Amino acid sequence: MPSLWYNTSMKTLKFKLYHHKRNRYLKRMINASGVIYNHCIALHKRYYRMWGKHLSCAKLQSHIAKLRKCNPFWQTVGSQAVQDICQRIEKAYQLFFKHNKKGVRPPGFKKVKKYKSFTLKQAGYKFLCGNRVKIGSKVYQFWKSREIEGTVKTLTIKRTPLGELFMVIVIEGNKPEAKFTTGKIAGFDFGLRTFLTCSDSTTIESPQFFKQSLNAIKKASRQHSKKLKGSVNREQARKNLVRRYEDISNRRRDWFWKLAHELTDKFDVLCFESLNLKGMHRFWGRKISDLAFGEFLQILEWIAKKKNRQIVFIDQWYPSTKTCSSCGHILESLDLSIRRWRCPSCQSENDRDGNASLNIKRVGSSTLGVGDVRQSQTAISV
Ligand SMILES: [Zn+2]
Repeated sequence: MPSLWYNTSMKTLKFKLYHHKRNRYLKRMINASGVIYNHCIALHKRYYRMWGKHLSCAKLQSHIAKLRKCNPFWQTVGSQAVQDICQRIEKAYQLFFKHNKKGVRPPGFKKVKKYKSFTLKQAGYKFLCGNRVKIGSKVYQFWKSREIEGTVKTLTIKRTPLGELFMVIVIEGNKPEAKFTTGKIAGFDFGLRTFLTCSDSTTIESPQFFKQSLNAIKKASRQHSKKLKGSVNREQARKNLVRRYEDISNRRRDWFWKLAHELTDKFDVLCFESLNLKGMHRFWGRKISDLAFGEFLQILEWIAKKKNRQIVFIDQWYPSTKTCSSCGHILESLDLSIRRWRCPSCQSENDRDGNASLNIKRVGSSTLGVGDVRQSQTAISV
């Protein structure tokens, strides 16, 4: 394999655009994209009705390009963004052809007001010095929260439900050197009371973000449902409600990032049980989504990749809570309400979550010896 392939990695960066009157041009471009999108969907449906076949992406693209020539509103969107719309629809159809038996639906019409974004590939934008970017013929400014290092592959302008604009860019950059620095490995157990229990016998409590804001959300949602449909007040109340929810997820995400950095600074290898999130959700309800394990793991995996740490997932069916971490004795059953138990075989007293985290660490480290993680063997003392 060419070395280039090894040394590069894709990264996604998100920047908020300065609020400015000029932003209406971008919003108009998003709206035009939505109109074009809907036109494409209509063409697909009509073509299928007439000929009984799928309209190919190339045919659609050339047809839309022709239409665009005599439509000034459509021209507000760059030709690359139009291609991207056609390709996105094609992708959605391919997914539908492949998985329609599993309940995947074909792409359908979308409300233009709710249409979210457009994407440019190589052309149609240019980064100027500082925090300025030229899109189409106009220059916009963004909060440059970090440096853009590497080659920009795509640029997407996104509109949030609040009408704020973000610029999301995918860049190809250099991968940092692989290294293990701490030589430490740890197992973690997710819990409902304690967010994470670590095998080094520390615990991490989760701030209950949703619970903290529950009253504010209830109030905002009551305000919203009281307002007359279609009124300005209702739109304001809707924005207020959306803001409350965004506030929670922002605070939670901040906390996840911090935690993920802390843990990856402390350990080289982090072992977790793979989660059956759907099953857990059915069982526990809202509280699980409040804790958002899945989102945390995504962030952690991303950071681990960047810092060259390793995340190991062990089989979710391994009885991590029922096995004694001292002698390996497996209990027949262990009720959820029991927080501590004494091992009938070796008499050691086990804390439910702490014991599980030790088992997860042990099983996780035993998988390290094989295959793709050979390099870690030498550096890590288990
Ligand atoms: Zn035991």
